[in-house]
Amino acid sequence: MDQNSRPWEFHRQGLNGQKTGTQVLLPKTFQEFDSHKLVTYIYDKESGLEGFIVIHRGSYALPSFGATRFWYYNSQEEALEDALRLSRMMSYKAALAGLQYGGAKGVILNPSNFLTAEKRERILTSYAKQVNYLNGRFITGSDVGISQEDVQKMKEVSPFIVGVQCDPTKFTAIGLFESIKVCLAHTFGDDSAKGRSFAIQGLGKIGGELLKMLYEQGATIFVSDIDEQLTRGFKEKFPNIQIVPSAEIHKVPVDCFCPCALSNAINTRTAEEFDCKIIAGGANNQLANREMGEMLHKNSILYAPDYVINAGGLISVVDEYEQKNHDEQRVLKRIDTIPQMLEKILVEAKNLNQPPSEIADKMAEKVFNGY
Ligand code: NAD
Repeated sequence: MDQNSRPWEFHRQGLNGQKTGTQVLLPKTFQEFDSHKLVTYIYDKESGLEGFIVIHRGSYALPSFGATRFWYYNSQEEALEDALRLSRMMSYKAALAGLQYGGAKGVILNPSNFLTAEKRERILTSYAKQVNYLNGRFITGSDVGISQEDVQKMKEVSPFIVGVQCDPTKFTAIGLFESIKVCLAHTFGDDSAKGRSFAIQGLGKIGGELLKMLYEQGATIFVSDIDEQLTRGFKEKFPNIQIVPSAEIHKVPVDCFCPCALSNAINTRTAEEFDCKIIAGGANNQLANREMGEMLHKNSILYAPDYVINAGGLISVVDEYEQKNHDEQRVLKRIDTIPQMLEKILVEAKNLNQPPSEIADKMAEKVFNGY
């Protein structure tokens, strides 16, 4: 890096090997850099693989965990920013789930809406080989855009893929559902979902599971997904749900809004438009920034920190990694700690009159900064 260039210019040079002059190309991405241990650009011309593997915290003795996202990013910068933020959040998640591993993330740029199955398999196979190159420092599984079938295929190529013996989605949804009950009890003095109303944003693996659980309880449910075929399929199976356009779902007057799609559901625009008492969902990085937690608190909306309540999947894959055999009861016992941790955070937040997101962040930082 020459003496006059700023750090983000250096990063740009590192990625593309070309000098950027005085043009500031990656300021936002650079802001997300939090002394990450490793930021790796992965590319394979033959298969079409392009993405990033990023490790936030970890130790020499233990690997770092984070699932892999396969999504349509507009640019490398957008994908890198997502990977930096998601990997950092994984460190917070592991810390408060009582897991001694650091956070990481894999992000693959999906090149097209119309990938053939063959091309998709080539990309994911190439990715699994890149994971092998890190030789066990990075353990990964399925996030947005990766199916259980994809995971099984990647496992044939890499021993560092987890979430094979059982589907982590189920455990994420259980932890989420139990946490929603904690929020209901705090807000209404009763933890039952029966007769309560929910708006679920995103009907993928997590949103779909949550919908089933809430439906069984007799809740009133509004849903949205950008995939209309998906929402229609759910409507056929669960006729009492109401489909809402994606741009409107966060505005629906409900007891609880459940973000279960991508990052940043809570941003400066949406924060003013919510008409709910609780926000509790499975999506990662729901807050566009830390100030959003403060804003919800001011607006008297109870926010359940995302990485606390969606840790069930991580807990299940760590269990698979450590124990090698799946034992549902053992995993469920570990997942019991999620609503307990949330309860602790909400009580402290109430006592100190601070946003639960702030309380959670401080608790987690205390843990992983010790690594
Ligand atoms: P998924 O790919 O199965 O589902 C995501 C769904 O969101 C898709 O159906 C997609 O069409 C929809 N979507 C995207 N943008 C949308 C928008 N603007 N409005 C409405 N819907 C939209 O992914 P998933 O595994 O269900 O993960 C969902 C969220 O939960 C992600 O943020 C993920 O990081 C987080 N999460 C997942 C797990 C897990 O075990 N899979 C664990 C913890 C956290």
